[in-house]
Amino acid sequence: MKDIRSLSLNEIKEEFSQLGEKNFRAAQVYEWMHKKLVQDFSEMTNLSKDLRQKLQDSYTLSPVREVSHQTSKEDGTRKYLFALEDGNVIESVWMQYKHGNSVCISSQVGCKMGCAFCASTLDGCVRSLKTSEMLGQIYEIQRLTGERVSNVVVMGSGEPLDNYDNLVRFIEMLSDDKGLNISQRNITVSTCGLVPRIYELAEKKYQITLAISLHASTDEKRKSLMPIAKRYSLGELMEACRVYEEKCTRRMTFEYSLVAGVNDTAEDARLLAGLLKGMNAHVNLIPVNPVTERNFVQPDRSACLAFQNKLEKMKINVTIRREMGRDIDGACGQLRRRYLKEEQP
Ligand code: SAH
Repeated sequence: MKDIRSLSLNEIKEEFSQLGEKNFRAAQVYEWMHKKLVQDFSEMTNLSKDLRQKLQDSYTLSPVREVSHQTSKEDGTRKYLFALEDGNVIESVWMQYKHGNSVCISSQVGCKMGCAFCASTLDGCVRSLKTSEMLGQIYEIQRLTGERVSNVVVMGSGEPLDNYDNLVRFIEMLSDDKGLNISQRNITVSTCGLVPRIYELAEKKYQITLAISLHASTDEKRKSLMPIAKRYSLGELMEACRVYEEKCTRRMTFEYSLVAGVNDTAEDARLLAGLLKGMNAHVNLIPVNPVTERNFVQPDRSACLAFQNKLEKMKINVTIRREMGRDIDGACGQLRRRYLKEEQP
């Protein structure tokens, strides 16, 4: 069945004209899906029973249904496990900040990128998420919490640029005033660095924030942490970032997971500053989140601060990410993994 929640309003109008339905019906259905956030045709009460039945027979809304959630006692962060129509499960995180509520969504079921410190990738990628399933995580969290979501980060499981077409559709629909109308400036997409896709995305000239997972400042170290570094060198990646910055005129973010004894020396910081020279960049340091299956260790607080200071001295704009939901399987992919292990021992 066709996934109607991934279609644009114009596409639904075309579908409806073939069904012999009027244009304004398409607008009504669009509003039910993307403003009123229903996950079932039966809730679309201003449509005739006939039409609701017709829709039910021809389309799916690809709902995401809550399986469970955990709430952090430390900061109220909530991690949701959602089931998709085909039985796959994904996780999403709801975080409350002073400036508003933020949702971190998954873009794929699992991930195939193989980064050494990441739990999402341990079982590979099952499939990419549809646009409706990416939107659905935000919609359902807004419904369940009763609170407006103002920021969205595509930083959960999966590599968003490996699901490029659905991602582009997602950005356009999420920032559309006929939907949740979330400003592109409040949307962040994080990538491990698929260079050709960065060039492609640059042409869209979106106002989103692109975050690049760097994690190392030499090719050799990056290759030991991230298989993608074997495909694209740091030189190629940084060139793509410079082009992106110029086309979109947006400050880029560089994520750098600090791993004790691996990438946290003063020399690492010096080389990192060199890579970013002349760019309008922000560095987000993430003390590595220990994952049971991996034996990486966080540098202690003073080592993180020393790394930050070193970058600041070289005029790099840098922050250490506040760890949210540490007590609830905070690291990417951990909740889903635990669920899968418990379900299928
Ligand atoms: N595939 C995308 C987005 C998913 S992960 C990407 O690579 O950017 C979001 C961020 O969390 C990435 O920077 C990722 O490298 C980082 N990350 C994953 N597992 C981590 C862990 N255990 N500790 C610290 N950072 C982690």
